[in-house]
Amino acid sequence: MDVTLQLTSYPGLDERITILRAADEVDAVFVRTERFNILVDTLATPALCRQALDLLAEKMGRRPLLVINSHMDWDHFWGNAALDRSVPIIAHATATDRLRDPAAQQVLAEKKQEPRFQAVELVAPNITFAGETMALHGGDLTLELIHTPGHTPDHIAVWVPEIRTCLAVDTVEHPIPEVWSSDPADLCALIASLKQIQDLQADYVVLAHGQRADPAVVDSNLRYFARLRDRVAGLGEIDIGATDLADRGGVRLQDLVTVPEDMTAETRVFYERCHRSNLAAVIAAYKAGIKFISDGSDG
Ligand SMILES: [Zn+2]
Repeated sequence: MDVTLQLTSYPGLDERITILRAADEVDAVFVRTERFNILVDTLATPALCRQALDLLAEKMGRRPLLVINSHMDWDHFWGNAALDRSVPIIAHATATDRLRDPAAQQVLAEKKQEPRFQAVELVAPNITFAGETMALHGGDLTLELIHTPGHTPDHIAVWVPEIRTCLAVDTVEHPIPEVWSSDPADLCALIASLKQIQDLQADYVVLAHGQRADPAVVDSNLRYFARLRDRVAGLGEIDIGATDLADRGGVRLQDLVTVPEDMTAETRVFYERCHRSNLAAVIAAYKAGIKFISDGSDG
């Protein structure tokens, strides 16, 4: 599959922000500030990242480039190898753990069967922060990096307070985000991260998948988890243990959210898999008696 890259935006979004759209694979984001340029994510291959840098050349001027890796999922950082070695690449400290995990090499080995991934090498971030937040002071714009675990342990979102814009990356997804594992702790983390983004009361919540910047998606993601909790709580012991549970009426993806009609079959399969992971985590939390979402989240 060949992916072409396009520069785009959303109606009303500040002109210092540019969306880099790699077809329907992923969106990265470019932010221009007075002091420096910031690229949030490097796309899925060095070739795509190179294309992005070429397309952005005019917007970049002579300002230095800083790169943020939102998290160590292949579609967001495999373009790192295209960057000059002097470019600062910022990520959360837990990104380093993910890169060290054998799973990182395993995903690469599997994906390399596709020709476009053959030039990928895993290039690690070179600046990491271990706390909850870190700020980049660009002069006219501030980029607050917020640790938002749950989708992955290393995930960060970016908040730009001056223009009330949140780059939510994969914490918020349309139609649903995906939790890291069936461990209730990850589910609790994802809900807390969604709440944290909701509390920003952003005018724009820019997603990496789903091609949207509508803050209402945050509310609908929280509503989905609240509904899922209620449906699971309404099931009996036998039903909860059923292996085909995710295919049964009431707890299927389409019973909980409106699945876009124009969604491709491939994307639908992907989100049904996400839904199964979420369902497993919600069931694990239910069995352990862990309350992962407050009752006010389904309004
Ligand atoms: Zn992603």
